Amino acid sequence: MRPLKMVDLGLEQQFFGPRLQAVMAEVLAHGQFIRGPEVQQFAQELGAYLGGVHVVPCANGTDALQLALMALDLAPGDAVIVPAFTYVSTAEVAALLRLQIRWADVSLEHFNLLPEALEAAYTPRVKAIVPVHLFGQAAPMAEILAFAQAKGIAVVEDTAQALGAEYIFPDGQRAKAGTLGTIGCTSFFPSKNLGCYGDGGALWTKDTTLAQRLARLANHGQDVLYEFIEVGVNSRLDTLQAAILRLKLPYLEEFNRRRQAIADLYDSYLRDIAALQLPTRVPWSTHIFHQYTLRVLDGRRDALRAYLTARGVPAMVYYPKPLHLQPAYQHPEAPPGSFPNAERLAREVISLPMHPFLSEDQVAYIAEAVHDFFR
Ligand SMILES: *Cc1c(COP(=O)(O)O)cnc(C)c1O
Repeated sequence: MRPLKMVDLGLEQQFFGPRLQAVMAEVLAHGQFIRGPEVQQFAQELGAYLGGVHVVPCANGTDALQLALMALDLAPGDAVIVPAFTYVSTAEVAALLRLQIRWADVSLEHFNLLPEALEAAYTPRVKAIVPVHLFGQAAPMAEILAFAQAKGIAVVEDTAQALGAEYIFPDGQRAKAGTLGTIGCTSFFPSKNLGCYGDGGALWTKDTTLAQRLARLANHGQDVLYEFIEVGVNSRLDTLQAAILRLKLPYLEEFNRRRQAIADLYDSYLRDIAALQLPTRVPWSTHIFHQYTLRVLDGRRDALRAYLTARGVPAMVYYPKPLHLQPAYQHPEAPPGSFPNAERLAREVISLPMHPFLSEDQVAYIAEAVHDFFR
């Protein structure tokens, strides 16, 4: 059996084969490595895929979040609500912009923001909520949007782990995760569901004027060359990465379906282990399984991880420490115990290998190893 990896980009390269070399060769031939035609072509294609939004490509997912917050014109000391259990970028960009971070706790079932936690996090300085669609499933957006609307504040969606997931409205209508708030952001880090072969990111909005502003902010604050209207940043998607993303985007749906099938297979093998909480599928979203994340309820998460590693099964902990307890982000107002669900998840979660090229034999082998541990 092929050695197991969390994400197997070697198999992905085999799948795309010479087509990868071909799209890269085209860029090498025209030589427009920065702002080449593929960048705007990809932006158009992603915008159409997302149901008609204006896409602004940028250098990575963290920059996308930063550009989104820059465009909201917040004043230093204004606050944003951020989940306590997520990757650091969401909070990091707020801190860089001298904004206050107001943490909110997350759900033990679906790991996303708890709508009940929003009121506790709110102060009159709060100007935006940044929900993260963690592990491939949309946050409870109906409640989040209703809260934001009632307070007159913006919603910036971190869609880095859920590109292609669909939010399902109570009447059955669907919209792509990331397209419900003021601005959506994503990352094309190689391991994401739509990844390039380096760094990349994008953000989008339905508002044409806001989209122009985002494009200007990503381009040193200039609309016209050497005319700097405001302070911006240099954040661009490379042409080579855009060419790779154009090749891969048409396969995103198929790859996400494959991830769902693998998740169902994991479920079928693992559902009889009482010490595990399997990933829940919420009724308001499809789940595209950026991660297949279990909760280990008997306190033996770290032992399980060590055991799996010894059996040649990589497993990762996303995330081992909630953000409000991180040295860079701790604050006397949020001591340990402030966000009990986030703290508990940090002790209990474990993610198993998940990518579209995982074979059924590999899934069976991984599940067998998990069973052996609990036997
Ligand atoms: C990957 C990720 C990011 C950051 O993306 P980069 O491209 O690495 O900057 C932000 N938020 C979440 C939830 C992520 O998973």
